Amino acid sequence: MTSNLLPTYLRADLAFERGEGVWLIATDGTRYLDFAAGVAVNALGHAHPRLVDALYAQAQKVWHVSNLYRIPEAERLAQRLCAATYADTVFFANSGAEAMECAIKMARKFHAANGKPERYRIVTYEGAFHGRTLATIAAGGQQKYLEGFGPPVDGFDQVPFADFEATKRALGEATAAILIEPIQGEGGVRVASPQILKSLRKLCDERGLLLIFDEVQTGIGRTGELFAYQRAGVTPDIMAIAKAIGGGFPLGACLATAEASKGMTTGTHGSTFGGNPLAMAVGNAVLDVVLDPAFIDNVRKRALVLKQRLAEIKDKYPTVIAEVRGEGLLIGLRAVGPNGDLVNALRAEKLLTVAAGDNVVRLLPPLIVGDAEIGEAIAMIDRACAHLARAPAAATKQGAAV
Ligand SMILES: *Cc1c(COP(=O)(O)O)cnc(C)c1O
Repeated sequence: MTSNLLPTYLRADLAFERGEGVWLIATDGTRYLDFAAGVAVNALGHAHPRLVDALYAQAQKVWHVSNLYRIPEAERLAQRLCAATYADTVFFANSGAEAMECAIKMARKFHAANGKPERYRIVTYEGAFHGRTLATIAAGGQQKYLEGFGPPVDGFDQVPFADFEATKRALGEATAAILIEPIQGEGGVRVASPQILKSLRKLCDERGLLLIFDEVQTGIGRTGELFAYQRAGVTPDIMAIAKAIGGGFPLGACLATAEASKGMTTGTHGSTFGGNPLAMAVGNAVLDVVLDPAFIDNVRKRALVLKQRLAEIKDKYPTVIAEVRGEGLLIGLRAVGPNGDLVNALRAEKLLTVAAGDNVVRLLPPLIVGDAEIGEAIAMIDRACAHLARAPAAATKQGAAV
């Protein structure tokens, strides 16, 4: 397999020609049940008619105009995102890392606008993933992503995940904000309890800090709420979203309160492509579907069924699956053997999943998944587990955590 692509990814030798809902059809015609959903991106599955129509209709009008002009589609999407959340204002970018960059810059600028530019540090959590730019790898703090890229961007203090006492100890005169994923996705589907999120909110209020949620993976219905913060009953000051908001079109956004964003005045930030009409048309179409209460209801019902069936599988194959965890359709199977072996065994049964940290395999089906497809997935998982239980395969790097 030779390729001119920079070899930064360990790719499976598999390519897809098209998709239909929860299915992906490989170039050789094989049908795969897609419980990876482009890593929590294809929330409406593949080739959803509403998204196809929206993209096609916008493509015939105008694709890109730049942010030198008003973009009505962007104003509409921002208005709808604010109406659906705690936020007052939105910045559009093209990816999760860029949404996070805006969040980090905004938190620093807030304190500068308050006359305290020395408050620039952000407390982050072990196992975090916030993207692959220089600032976001520093925020994530994972050595494997920082290695060889020079001095990490300064300003991040890392503590064990969801550890309140350690968070408190990490605060200092220079602290600007606390940044957390309500559920760590890449980190292995590790859930922060509503209590810890409430405690962090209180701590931020007491100390004049901003609370930043990275909902790039958890947002847009994945956890059975439109956003994971809604389950905890606390609101952040700043929130980064991406992945599912574009349904497969590159789109990220940073949502904030008017107060938290007050330093981000004209000229302080920008993006050439951010919020362009094509992306906005798709984002609005995603919201058309996702904001229907029946949509989130489907996520909750299907999640309940899937979790129950997975609990049975875990009991049946204790030498293969150690734990089932997660919220909604962000589900982690902690493997007993190497998680890469489980990903491979599932793929051999034509089920696509994603590896994560903590030896976890993520199940991230499109949120439109139905009971019949869940039934098929369970049958595939059952066969893959039976195979692994019979013949524990040698450790392989294929499909290992990204
Ligand atoms: C995927 C992800 C990111 C990075 O998004 P990109 O679009 O790859 O830049 C950031 N934070 C979280 C929680 C993610 O899951």
